[in-house]
This record gives sequence, structure tokens and C-alpha cells, in this order.
Amino acid sequence: MKRWNLIIDVEKCNDCNNCFLACKDEYFENDFLPYSVAQPRLGHRWMNIMRKERGEYPKVDVAYLPIPCMHCDDAPCIKKSKDKAVYKRKDGIVLIDPEKAKGRKDMLDTCPYGAIWWNEEKALPQKCTLCVHLLEEGWKEPRCVQVCPTGAMRVVLAEDSEIKKLKKSEKLEVYLPEYKTRPRLYYKNLYRYTRCFIAGNVVFHDRDECAEGAEVTLSKGSKKVIDRVTTNNYGDFKIDNLEENSGKYGLEIRFPGYGKQKLGINLKTGVNLGTIFL
Ligand code: SF4
Ligand code: SF4
Repeated sequence: MKRWNLIIDVEKCNDCNNCFLACKDEYFENDFLPYSVAQPRLGHRWMNIMRKERGEYPKVDVAYLPIPCMHCDDAPCIKKSKDKAVYKRKDGIVLIDPEKAKGRKDMLDTCPYGAIWWNEEKALPQKCTLCVHLLEEGWKEPRCVQVCPTGAMRVVLAEDSEIKKLKKSEKLEVYLPEYKTRPRLYYKNLYRYTRCFIAGNVVFHDRDECAEGAEVTLSKGSKKVIDRVTTNNYGDFKIDNLEENSGKYGLEIRFPGYGKQKLGINLKTGVNLGTIFL
């Protein structure tokens, strides 16, 4: 059976908030019973865009991680709710029943991603429904996906076997896999948010010039090469997708006609090695 899945490319998200606003436009003052009742004007972020700054000045970047409900297959919100106040449909969508969930503020603590929001006026926990009312009318995608200007988001209605192949071919990951909730939201380029990088700048010591084309090799232990990159025309390099607090690395820089440079790094979060002379 085909089920709904959401895929978000972290590299393409620029924090424009169109997805958040489309969600607000769809749900503010609008009930879609039996699936949802209106979202309050303020306070709720059913599409919550998180931000992470990485690196050390001046070698820094920023990544954004949109977090809606992940429509998990092994959802703690369902396990901990009573009387089917939260339920999963056969098409994969997880919904909060607005009748049965009334007064259940405790439900907010059941989601490890903070995807459930409290509507004070209606005494109701609420969250993303994947615009199920629109999908049932024949829409091919929810409002958030439709308005994303960079193509960072897409929905896929597919068999789980197809998603498995897609995960492999596009290197998709789930966020915080240690929660074991089996989300139906997959991220591409998640390392941009969850991992760190080593950056630096290479210069020739005997000329007033950046060392373009120097080979930079990062190793772990005595032999294991992690990555090898080449400096650009400013002599800059960046080795990304490294685990934070992953310990000691060796960095070697080579350029024909110059002696090699070796540096040791104890990686905690991202690091800028500054200017390195050959
Ligand atoms: S993301 Fe949270 S609210 Fe959504 S299904 Fe998973 S546990 Fe439930
Ligand atoms: S609309 Fe697209 S680019 Fe804009 S914040 Fe949402 S996911 Fe990111």
C-alpha cells in the first residue's frame, strides 16, 4: 500500500518561512473537521524552522531545519494517548482527534520533536495534518510543499519498498534516529545541520599569494583517510560532514615544490585553522 512521506533538503532551505506562512494561511480561522480545528493566530509553528550556525569566524555558515510532525510509524504520541485520541491512518498520516484530545495538555510531552502545540483558547493539542483535507480533495501536495520557492520540500506517495530505495539513492536520513520513532519525514543533506566542518586557508610563505590547488588530506588514526580536497583560488578549503566531538585527526597539506605541512586537530565543534603557510 502506498503511504505519504515528506522529504526536505536542508541544503536548499533558506529560512524564507513561506511554508510556515502557507500553513498559517490554511489553518488560521479555518476548521477542517473531523481532522483539525482552526490554529490560533499567534504561538503555533506547525512548521517550525530551526537554525544552526556552524564554524568559527570568518569561516561560518548557517543551516535551517524545518520540523513539522514527522508522521512517525512508531509514534510515542499514539502509544501514550488514550481512546485513539491520536491515530495513524492507513496512508501513513498521524492525526490528533479534536474531539477526543480536548483538555489533553499532557500530549505535548509525548512528542520528542516538539511538534505538538497547545491551543489555550480551545484547550486542545494541535499539529501538522499534512493538509489531509486537501489531499483527500485530490491535491498532490500540502500547502507548505506547494509554496516552497527553492524546491526544498516534496511529498512522495509510495510503497515503503520504493522509499527504501530512495533513501539509499539520495542518502536520506531521519532526524534524531535514537528516538526510534520511524518518522515518515526524511532529510537530505542533514549533515549541514547535525555535523561540523574543518576550514582553513593556505598561503605560500615565499610569495604574497594564496596557494590555489594545494591538496589537503584529513586522516583519522595512522592511516584512515577521511577526506581529500583541493584549495580554491583563495587558498581556502573546507572538509564537511564530520561528527562533532569525534576526537583526534591529522591534516596534511601538500603542494609540488613545497614541503608538506602537518597539523593535529582535536575536533569538538567546527574549527577554522586560519592561515597555514607552506
Ligand atoms: S512527530 Fe511527534 S506528533 Fe508527529 S507522529 Fe511523531 S511523535 Fe507524534
Ligand atoms: S518554504 Fe522552503 S525554503 Fe522557505 S523556509 Fe520553508 S522549506 Fe525552507
